Amino acid sequence: MSVPQLVVLENVNLEPLKPPMYVALFNAWAWLARQCPGVDLVITSAADGVHGRNSLHYVGFAVDLRIWNVPSELRQAWRDAIASACGPQFDVLLKADHMHIEFQPEHL
Ligand SMILES: [Zn+2]
Repeated sequence: MSVPQLVVLENVNLEPLKPPMYVALFNAWAWLARQCPGVDLVITSAADGVHGRNSLHYVGFAVDLRIWNVPSELRQAWRDAIASACGPQFDVLLKADHMHIEFQPEHL
């Protein structure tokens, strides 16, 4: 069985990414490894790119993941599994063209 890779696109700035985001990435990867073997986890944006004003991306508390390589009928289940595994301190949003995950506990 082929285990997915964790792929970081060129120009993605991981340097400011905070430790809680690696928990989310692990959970996202682990579900793919079980449910979609062979589908890589691709980070398309971290602390880079253009996001909303005051976005948590700019302070290393958000990542975007590729979704087009995940079968469309499985994307909602993937989102739900990440949200469940990460717990209420994280927001996991399935957007039209990517998955956005941010760490947003009360104190942020
Ligand atoms: Zn985002």
